Amino acid sequence: MNKAILIRFGEIFLKGKNKYVFENLLIKNILKTLTDYKVKLTKISGRYILTEYDEINETEIMEKVSHVFGVYSLSGCYVVKTSEENITNCVKQLEIVGNTFKVDVKRANKQFPIRSTDFAAQMGGVVLENNNNLKVNLKNPDTTIYIEIREDGNSYIYNSIVKCVGGMPVGSSGGGLLLLSGGIDSPVAGFLMSKRGMPLHAIHFHSFPYTSELAKDKVISLAKIISEYTGNITLHIVPFTKIQEEIHKHCRPEYMITLMRRFMMRISEIVATENNLKAIITGESLAQVASQTIESITVTNNAINSLPVLRPLIAMDKENIIEISKKINTYNTSILPYEDCCTVFLPENPLIKPKLEKVLKEENRLNVEELISNAISNIEVINTNDI
Ligand code: ATP
Ligand code: MG
Repeated sequence: MNKAILIRFGEIFLKGKNKYVFENLLIKNILKTLTDYKVKLTKISGRYILTEYDEINETEIMEKVSHVFGVYSLSGCYVVKTSEENITNCVKQLEIVGNTFKVDVKRANKQFPIRSTDFAAQMGGVVLENNNNLKVNLKNPDTTIYIEIREDGNSYIYNSIVKCVGGMPVGSSGGGLLLLSGGIDSPVAGFLMSKRGMPLHAIHFHSFPYTSELAKDKVISLAKIISEYTGNITLHIVPFTKIQEEIHKHCRPEYMITLMRRFMMRISEIVATENNLKAIITGESLAQVASQTIESITVTNNAINSLPVLRPLIAMDKENIIEISKKINTYNTSILPYEDCCTVFLPENPLIKPKLEKVLKEENRLNVEELISNAISNIEVINTNDI
């Protein structure tokens, strides 16, 4: 009786002619996340099976695969060569949680002589013989024993289905550049876009020495945590201090945040284009703070020429965002108390509804091109795979 992990994928079925491209990508991503383990991946109709791994690693392997976008559910199962005797022996040994159960048989291999419903009843009898206290409950059982009698000559027997992350395999969309702060929102925004198949780079604007090395380390940690879902993230760390000081020196204080955000967008667009990325991603949510009114967003957007800015959280409440950040394990890092660059030189009364002409007038006091090219030539690049 060998152990195996059954992998189910969902949405990629819908893709008609492109199905094989999506499937190959998913297989590649599953194997990439398992490079540290010895495993064999085989395809059977509509499923993948992992075998030949060291059983000590099964929980870790399942955890890793459950984070691969495109994987919908997993089951750790036993595999036997299909025969009435082998399946019976396996069912006898299953541990069953709770007081009630049912047996669900799928017979894809029609050469197996017993019909599904008859075999389910027969196996139910075997379970009852071996577990005195159990009762059958077909409507709402504590445990369902699944027996899949497959065309490949094997039967797969399991009693749990673990729901996974879902989505589309990373790489099935063009790439995006995530503006990653140390906050709660932007890691969630990156996770959600990557879940739709988008590979990520990230960019962080750092105000050393106004913000500490710890603030930078926090962003690196956040990138590392989301890379467990997205695959390697190339993180571009941009020195932002000079730009903030220049705005502070030459422009009216209430324009600080608006001008800063326009610089962020311009630099992001250049970095995205240089890296062949097709979109910019932010963690903005409408009306959450002064820089996220529709008027502020309009003025910020105006600094971008050609790329779309994706804001997957725009209509979400903070509670929902926090819920996701807890699920993906970024929350505890996000709430560490290190300052973000946006809190440096924070004006007492930031503009809530900035007007573009007035913003441009303030911006004209600065040598925008030179500030941008200086910042870009001092970018530090870190790959999460290297840390
Ligand atoms: P977050 O929780 O993501 O920090 P926030 O609610 O604090 O968001 P803002 O500070 O207004 O909101 O930032 C809005 C978005 O701008 C962030 O979600 C992020 O995408 C981007 N951003 C803000 N600060 C930085 C930074 N220092 N580096 C990179 N991107 C940033
Ligand atoms: Mg923030």
